Amino acid sequence: ENDRPVRRIRALDPGVVNKIAAGEIIVAPVHALKELIENAVDAGSTSLEILVKEGGLKLLQITDNGCGIQRDDLSLLCERHTTSKITTFEDLTSISTYGFRGEALASISHIAHLTVTTKTKDSSVAWRAHYLDGELAPPKPGQPAEPRAVAGRPGTQITVEDLFYNVPARRRAFRSPADEFNKIIDMVGRYAIHSKGVGFTCKKAGESSNSLAIQAQATVNDRIRQIYGSSVANELIDLHSSDDRWGFKADGLVTNANFNIKKTTLLLFINHRSVESSVIKKAIEQTYLSYLPKGGHPFVYLSLEIDPARVDVNVHPTKREVHFLNEDEIVEAICKDIETKLAAVDTSRTFMTQS
Ligand code: ADP
Ligand code: MG
Repeated sequence: ENDRPVRRIRALDPGVVNKIAAGEIIVAPVHALKELIENAVDAGSTSLEILVKEGGLKLLQITDNGCGIQRDDLSLLCERHTTSKITTFEDLTSISTYGFRGEALASISHIAHLTVTTKTKDSSVAWRAHYLDGELAPPKPGQPAEPRAVAGRPGTQITVEDLFYNVPARRRAFRSPADEFNKIIDMVGRYAIHSKGVGFTCKKAGESSNSLAIQAQATVNDRIRQIYGSSVANELIDLHSSDDRWGFKADGLVTNANFNIKKTTLLLFINHRSVESSVIKKAIEQTYLSYLPKGGHPFVYLSLEIDPARVDVNVHPTKREVHFLNEDEIVEAICKDIETKLAAVDTSRTFMTQS
Protein backbone atom coordinates (compact mmCIF):
# COMPACT_ATOMS: atom_id res chain seq x y z
CA GLU A 1 0.00 0.00 0.00
CA ASN A 2 1.39 3.38 -1.05
CA ASP A 3 0.75 6.39 1.17
CA ARG A 4 2.60 8.85 -0.96
CA PRO A 5 0.26 11.78 -1.66
CA VAL A 6 -0.45 12.44 -5.32
CA ARG A 7 1.35 15.60 -6.42
CA ARG A 8 0.04 17.88 -9.12
CA ILE A 9 2.11 18.55 -12.23
CA ARG A 10 2.99 22.20 -12.73
CA ALA A 11 4.94 24.11 -15.38
CA LEU A 12 8.34 25.34 -14.23
CA ASP A 13 8.80 29.04 -13.96
CA PRO A 14 10.43 30.31 -17.22
CA GLY A 15 13.24 31.86 -15.19
CA VAL A 16 14.09 28.43 -13.79
CA VAL A 17 13.89 26.83 -17.25
CA ASN A 18 16.26 29.43 -18.69
CA LYS A 19 18.71 29.00 -15.82
CA ILE A 20 18.74 25.20 -16.30
CA ALA A 21 19.24 25.55 -20.07
CA ALA A 22 22.05 28.07 -19.56
CA GLY A 23 23.77 25.81 -17.04
CA GLU A 24 23.78 23.02 -19.64
CA ILE A 25 25.55 25.18 -22.21
CA ILE A 26 27.87 26.99 -19.79
CA VAL A 27 29.16 24.38 -17.35
CA ALA A 28 32.38 26.21 -16.44
CA PRO A 29 33.85 29.66 -17.20
CA VAL A 30 35.88 28.21 -20.10
CA HIS A 31 32.65 27.37 -21.97
CA ALA A 32 31.48 30.98 -21.81
CA LEU A 33 34.87 32.16 -23.00
CA LYS A 34 34.92 29.68 -25.89
CA GLU A 35 31.61 31.09 -27.18
CA LEU A 36 32.90 34.65 -26.83
CA ILE A 37 36.12 33.83 -28.71
CA GLU A 38 34.13 32.20 -31.53
CA ASN A 39 31.84 35.26 -31.76
CA ALA A 40 34.84 37.60 -31.90
CA VAL A 41 36.55 35.56 -34.62
CA ASP A 42 33.21 35.34 -36.53
CA ALA A 43 33.08 39.15 -36.40
CA GLY A 44 36.28 39.33 -38.45
CA SER A 45 38.52 40.48 -35.61
CA THR A 46 42.30 40.48 -35.94
CA SER A 47 42.90 41.19 -32.26
CA LEU A 48 41.41 39.53 -29.20
CA GLU A 49 42.32 40.70 -25.71
CA ILE A 50 41.16 38.56 -22.85
CA LEU A 51 41.14 39.51 -19.17
CA VAL A 52 40.36 36.97 -16.43
CA LYS A 53 39.75 37.36 -12.70
CA GLU A 54 39.43 34.41 -10.28
CA GLY A 55 39.48 31.78 -12.97
CA GLY A 56 36.77 33.63 -14.89
CA LEU A 57 34.24 33.31 -12.06
CA LYS A 58 34.62 36.96 -11.02
CA LEU A 59 35.36 38.41 -14.46
CA LEU A 60 35.74 37.35 -18.07
CA GLN A 61 36.33 40.18 -20.48
CA ILE A 62 37.05 39.94 -24.16
CA THR A 63 37.79 42.94 -26.35
CA ASP A 64 37.86 42.53 -30.12
CA ASN A 65 38.32 44.81 -33.13
CA GLY A 66 35.66 43.13 -35.25
CA CYS A 67 32.62 44.49 -37.11
CA GLY A 68 30.69 45.51 -33.99
CA ILE A 69 26.94 45.31 -33.41
CA GLN A 70 24.40 47.90 -34.55
CA ARG A 71 22.68 49.86 -31.82
CA ASP A 72 19.23 48.72 -32.95
CA ASP A 73 20.24 45.05 -32.60
CA LEU A 74 21.25 45.45 -28.96
CA SER A 75 17.72 44.90 -27.63
CA LEU A 76 17.59 41.49 -29.35
CA LEU A 77 21.16 40.43 -28.63
CA CYS A 78 20.43 38.31 -25.56
CA GLU A 79 17.08 36.85 -26.51
CA ARG A 80 17.31 33.10 -27.06
CA HIS A 81 17.58 31.99 -30.67
CA THR A 82 18.49 35.40 -32.00
CA THR A 83 21.41 35.26 -34.39
CA SER A 84 22.76 37.06 -37.44
CA LYS A 85 24.15 33.77 -38.74
CA ILE A 86 21.24 31.59 -39.88
CA THR A 87 17.62 32.14 -40.84
CA THR A 88 16.26 28.72 -41.84
CA PHE A 89 16.73 25.15 -40.67
CA GLU A 90 18.41 24.43 -44.01
CA ASP A 91 21.03 27.03 -43.11
CA LEU A 92 22.09 24.70 -40.30
CA THR A 93 23.47 22.38 -42.96
CA SER A 94 25.41 25.01 -44.85
CA ILE A 95 26.76 27.14 -42.05
CA SER A 96 30.42 27.94 -42.25
CA THR A 97 30.78 30.27 -39.28
CA TYR A 98 31.34 28.98 -35.76
CA GLY A 99 28.19 29.95 -33.90
CA PHE A 100 24.81 29.19 -35.28
CA ARG A 101 22.10 28.93 -32.68
CA GLY A 102 21.99 32.32 -31.06
CA GLU A 103 22.10 30.84 -27.59
CA ALA A 104 25.44 31.80 -26.14
CA LEU A 105 24.89 35.39 -25.09
CA ALA A 106 21.33 34.64 -23.99
CA SER A 107 22.60 31.82 -21.77
CA ILE A 108 25.32 33.94 -20.25
CA SER A 109 22.82 36.69 -19.41
CA HIS A 110 20.79 34.21 -17.34
CA ILE A 111 23.68 33.19 -15.10
CA ALA A 112 25.93 36.26 -14.97
CA HIS A 113 26.00 40.05 -15.19
CA LEU A 114 26.67 40.88 -18.82
CA THR A 115 27.80 44.19 -20.27
CA VAL A 116 28.36 44.81 -23.98
CA THR A 117 30.15 47.84 -25.41
CA THR A 118 30.25 47.94 -29.18
CA LYS A 119 30.95 50.23 -32.11
CA THR A 120 30.48 49.59 -35.82
CA LYS A 121 32.74 51.43 -38.24
CA ASP A 122 29.80 53.57 -39.46
CA SER A 123 28.76 54.73 -36.00
CA SER A 124 30.23 57.89 -34.49
CA VAL A 125 29.85 56.57 -30.94
CA ALA A 126 30.08 53.26 -29.10
CA TRP A 127 26.99 51.87 -27.37
CA ARG A 128 26.98 50.22 -23.97
CA ALA A 129 24.23 47.89 -22.80
CA HIS A 130 23.66 45.78 -19.70
CA TYR A 131 21.73 42.53 -19.71
CA LEU A 132 19.87 40.43 -17.19
CA ASP A 133 17.86 37.26 -17.93
CA GLY A 134 17.86 37.79 -21.68
CA GLU A 135 16.81 41.44 -21.62
CA LEU A 136 18.32 44.89 -21.55
CA ALA A 137 18.75 45.96 -17.94
CA PRO A 138 19.44 49.32 -16.29
CA PRO A 139 23.09 49.90 -15.30
CA LYS A 140 21.79 50.95 -11.84
CA PRO A 141 18.31 50.60 -10.35
CA GLY A 142 16.08 53.45 -11.50
CA GLN A 143 18.10 54.25 -14.60
CA PRO A 144 16.75 53.52 -18.10
CA ALA A 145 17.48 50.07 -19.55
CA GLU A 146 18.37 51.58 -22.95
CA PRO A 147 21.87 51.37 -24.44
CA ARG A 148 23.83 54.54 -23.77
CA ALA A 149 26.41 56.29 -25.94
CA VAL A 150 30.00 56.12 -24.71
CA ALA A 151 33.42 56.75 -26.22
CA GLY A 152 35.02 53.65 -27.71
CA ARG A 153 37.01 52.09 -30.50
CA PRO A 154 35.47 50.01 -33.31
CA GLY A 155 34.80 46.46 -32.21
CA THR A 156 33.12 44.83 -29.27
CA GLN A 157 33.93 44.36 -25.63
CA ILE A 158 31.97 41.73 -23.71
CA THR A 159 32.19 41.71 -19.93
CA VAL A 160 30.89 38.76 -17.94
CA GLU A 161 30.86 39.26 -14.18
CA ASP A 162 29.98 36.98 -11.28
CA LEU A 163 29.27 33.88 -13.33
CA PHE A 164 26.79 31.53 -11.58
CA TYR A 165 25.95 34.24 -9.01
CA ASN A 166 22.36 32.94 -9.01
CA VAL A 167 23.27 29.23 -9.13
CA PRO A 168 24.96 28.91 -5.72
CA ALA A 169 25.40 25.13 -5.89
CA ARG A 170 27.29 25.43 -9.17
CA ARG A 171 29.29 28.39 -7.89
CA ARG A 172 30.39 26.42 -4.83
CA ALA A 173 31.47 23.46 -6.97
CA PHE A 174 34.46 25.48 -8.26
CA ARG A 175 37.08 24.81 -5.60
CA SER A 176 40.07 26.21 -7.44
CA PRO A 177 40.14 29.35 -9.60
CA ALA A 178 43.62 28.22 -10.68
CA ASP A 179 42.16 25.05 -12.26
CA GLU A 180 39.56 27.13 -14.09
CA PHE A 181 42.26 29.50 -15.32
CA ASN A 182 44.27 26.54 -16.64
CA LYS A 183 41.27 25.38 -18.66
CA ILE A 184 40.86 28.93 -19.98
CA ILE A 185 44.49 29.35 -21.01
CA ASP A 186 44.41 25.94 -22.69
CA MET A 187 41.34 26.94 -24.73
CA VAL A 188 42.78 30.38 -25.62
CA GLY A 189 45.96 28.61 -26.77
CA ARG A 190 43.95 26.27 -29.00
CA TYR A 191 42.17 29.14 -30.74
CA ALA A 192 45.39 31.18 -30.88
CA ILE A 193 47.07 28.33 -32.77
CA HIS A 194 44.13 27.80 -35.08
CA SER A 195 43.11 31.38 -35.87
CA LYS A 196 45.40 32.54 -38.68
CA GLY A 197 45.85 36.31 -38.87
CA VAL A 198 44.40 36.90 -35.41
CA GLY A 199 46.45 38.18 -32.48
CA PHE A 200 45.60 37.04 -28.94
CA THR A 201 46.46 38.16 -25.47
CA CYS A 202 45.24 36.61 -22.24
CA LYS A 203 45.92 38.18 -18.89
CA LYS A 204 45.06 37.56 -15.25
CA ALA A 205 43.62 40.70 -13.65
CA GLY A 206 46.21 42.39 -11.43
CA GLU A 207 49.22 40.86 -13.15
CA SER A 208 51.51 43.07 -15.19
CA SER A 209 52.43 40.59 -17.91
CA ASN A 210 50.26 38.52 -20.20
CA SER A 211 49.90 34.78 -19.60
CA LEU A 212 49.72 34.38 -23.37
CA ALA A 213 50.55 36.76 -26.23
CA ILE A 214 50.46 35.87 -29.92
CA GLN A 215 51.02 38.41 -32.69
CA ALA A 216 48.47 38.58 -35.51
CA GLN A 217 51.13 37.86 -38.15
CA ALA A 218 52.68 34.85 -36.36
CA THR A 219 52.79 31.60 -38.37
CA VAL A 220 51.15 28.45 -37.04
CA ASN A 221 54.59 27.06 -36.26
CA ASP A 222 55.50 30.23 -34.30
CA ARG A 223 52.23 29.98 -32.43
CA ILE A 224 52.90 26.39 -31.42
CA ARG A 225 56.46 27.30 -30.44
CA GLN A 226 55.30 30.11 -28.18
CA ILE A 227 52.59 28.09 -26.51
CA TYR A 228 54.00 24.54 -26.42
CA GLY A 229 57.74 25.25 -26.71
CA SER A 230 60.53 24.49 -29.16
CA SER A 231 60.75 20.81 -28.24
CA VAL A 232 57.36 20.41 -29.95
CA ALA A 233 57.76 23.06 -32.68
CA ASN A 234 61.12 21.70 -33.89
CA GLU A 235 59.72 18.24 -34.61
CA LEU A 236 56.55 19.02 -36.56
CA ILE A 237 55.57 17.54 -39.88
CA ASP A 238 52.98 19.03 -42.21
CA LEU A 239 49.85 17.08 -42.86
CA HIS A 240 47.45 17.62 -45.75
CA SER A 241 44.79 15.10 -46.47
CA SER A 242 41.60 15.15 -48.49
CA ASP A 243 39.16 12.94 -50.30
CA ASP A 244 36.22 14.16 -52.34
CA ARG A 245 34.44 10.86 -51.84
CA TRP A 246 34.03 11.65 -48.13
CA GLY A 247 33.83 15.43 -48.59
CA PHE A 248 36.66 16.36 -46.26
CA LYS A 249 39.95 18.21 -46.12
CA ALA A 250 42.39 17.99 -43.23
CA ASP A 251 45.40 20.17 -42.48
CA GLY A 252 47.63 19.85 -39.52
CA LEU A 253 50.98 19.75 -37.84
CA VAL A 254 51.94 16.57 -36.03
CA THR A 255 55.11 15.60 -34.18
CA ASN A 256 57.50 13.09 -35.76
CA ALA A 257 59.06 10.03 -34.15
CA ASN A 258 61.78 12.14 -32.46
CA PHE A 259 59.26 13.59 -30.05
CA ASN A 260 57.07 12.04 -27.39
CA ILE A 261 55.21 13.01 -24.23
CA LYS A 262 53.35 11.10 -21.53
CA LYS A 263 49.88 12.11 -22.75
CA THR A 264 48.62 12.88 -26.22
CA THR A 265 48.00 16.56 -26.90
CA LEU A 266 45.26 16.76 -29.51
CA LEU A 267 44.17 20.18 -30.74
CA LEU A 268 41.21 19.23 -32.89
CA PHE A 269 39.09 21.65 -34.91
CA ILE A 270 36.14 20.58 -36.97
CA ASN A 271 34.91 23.34 -39.25
CA HIS A 272 36.83 25.81 -37.10
CA ARG A 273 35.32 24.86 -33.76
CA SER A 274 37.47 23.30 -31.08
CA VAL A 275 35.95 19.88 -30.35
CA GLU A 276 36.85 16.65 -28.60
CA SER A 277 36.79 13.25 -30.24
CA SER A 278 37.84 10.10 -28.46
CA VAL A 279 37.43 8.20 -31.76
CA ILE A 280 39.99 10.38 -33.55
CA LYS A 281 42.32 10.44 -30.55
CA LYS A 282 42.38 6.64 -30.24
CA ALA A 283 42.99 6.17 -33.97
CA ILE A 284 45.90 8.63 -33.93
CA GLU A 285 47.45 7.01 -30.84
CA GLN A 286 47.20 3.65 -32.56
CA THR A 287 48.99 5.08 -35.61
CA TYR A 288 51.92 6.31 -33.52
CA LEU A 289 52.23 3.11 -31.48
CA SER A 290 54.97 1.53 -33.57
CA TYR A 291 56.93 4.79 -34.01
CA LEU A 292 57.23 5.97 -30.41
CA PRO A 293 58.86 4.38 -27.37
CA LYS A 294 56.49 2.55 -25.01
CA GLY A 295 54.33 5.05 -23.09
CA GLY A 296 55.23 7.90 -25.47
CA HIS A 297 52.55 9.99 -27.17
CA PRO A 298 52.40 12.67 -29.87
CA PHE A 299 51.36 16.31 -30.16
CA VAL A 300 48.75 16.70 -32.88
CA TYR A 301 47.12 19.84 -34.27
CA LEU A 302 44.43 18.87 -36.74
CA SER A 303 42.01 21.12 -38.56
CA LEU A 304 39.30 19.13 -40.24
CA GLU A 305 36.94 20.72 -42.70
CA ILE A 306 33.94 18.62 -43.56
CA ASP A 307 31.20 19.48 -46.01
CA PRO A 308 28.70 21.11 -43.62
CA ALA A 309 25.89 19.07 -45.18
CA ARG A 310 27.60 15.97 -43.75
CA VAL A 311 28.04 17.30 -40.21
CA ASP A 312 25.37 16.93 -37.60
CA VAL A 313 25.91 20.04 -35.53
CA ASN A 314 22.64 19.70 -33.73
CA VAL A 315 23.63 16.76 -31.55
CA HIS A 316 24.09 18.42 -28.19
CA PRO A 317 23.48 21.91 -26.77
CA THR A 318 27.14 22.27 -25.88
CA LYS A 319 28.12 21.48 -29.46
CA ARG A 320 31.27 19.90 -28.02
CA GLU A 321 30.35 16.65 -29.67
CA VAL A 322 30.17 16.67 -33.44
CA HIS A 323 29.24 13.74 -35.65
CA PHE A 324 29.73 13.42 -39.37
CA LEU A 325 29.07 10.97 -42.17
CA ASN A 326 31.82 8.45 -43.05
CA GLU A 327 33.58 9.15 -39.77
CA ASP A 328 35.50 5.83 -40.00
CA GLU A 329 36.66 6.36 -43.58
CA ILE A 330 37.80 9.92 -42.91
CA VAL A 331 39.70 8.98 -39.76
CA GLU A 332 41.32 6.06 -41.57
CA ALA A 333 42.41 8.29 -44.47
CA ILE A 334 43.98 10.84 -42.12
CA CYS A 335 45.78 8.19 -40.08
CA LYS A 336 47.12 6.58 -43.24
CA ASP A 337 48.62 9.93 -44.27
CA ILE A 338 50.14 10.41 -40.81
CA GLU A 339 51.63 6.93 -41.03
CA THR A 340 53.15 7.63 -44.46
CA LYS A 341 54.77 10.82 -43.17
CA LEU A 342 56.05 9.12 -40.02
CA ALA A 343 57.54 6.30 -42.07
CA ALA A 344 59.23 8.77 -44.47
CA VAL A 345 60.81 10.74 -41.62
CA ASP A 346 61.83 7.51 -39.92
CA THR A 347 63.59 6.30 -43.09
CA SER A 348 65.49 9.56 -43.59
CA ARG A 349 66.57 9.38 -39.95
CA THR A 350 67.85 5.83 -40.43
CA PHE A 351 69.84 6.97 -43.47
CA MET A 352 71.28 9.86 -41.52
CA THR A 353 72.48 7.72 -38.64
CA GLN A 354 73.93 5.14 -41.06
CA SER A 355 75.96 7.63 -43.11
P1 ADP B 1 25.36 32.97 -32.45
O1 ADP B 1 26.86 33.15 -32.38
O2 ADP B 1 24.96 31.54 -32.46
O3 ADP B 1 24.72 33.78 -33.53
P2 ADP B 1 25.41 34.36 -29.95
O4 ADP B 1 24.45 34.43 -28.81
O5 ADP B 1 26.77 33.84 -29.67
O6 ADP B 1 24.72 33.49 -31.07
O7 ADP B 1 25.50 35.79 -30.61
C1 ADP B 1 24.33 36.42 -31.11
C2 ADP B 1 24.65 37.46 -32.18
O8 ADP B 1 25.34 38.56 -31.61
C3 ADP B 1 25.59 36.95 -33.27
O9 ADP B 1 24.88 36.30 -34.30
C4 ADP B 1 26.25 38.23 -33.76
O10 ADP B 1 25.44 38.88 -34.73
C5 ADP B 1 26.27 39.10 -32.51
N1 ADP B 1 27.60 39.11 -31.84
C6 ADP B 1 27.96 38.42 -30.74
N2 ADP B 1 29.24 38.66 -30.39
C7 ADP B 1 29.72 39.55 -31.31
C8 ADP B 1 31.00 40.19 -31.50
N3 ADP B 1 32.03 39.97 -30.68
N4 ADP B 1 31.11 41.04 -32.55
C9 ADP B 1 30.07 41.27 -33.40
N5 ADP B 1 28.85 40.68 -33.26
C10 ADP B 1 28.67 39.83 -32.24
MG1 MG C 1 28.07 32.59 -30.90
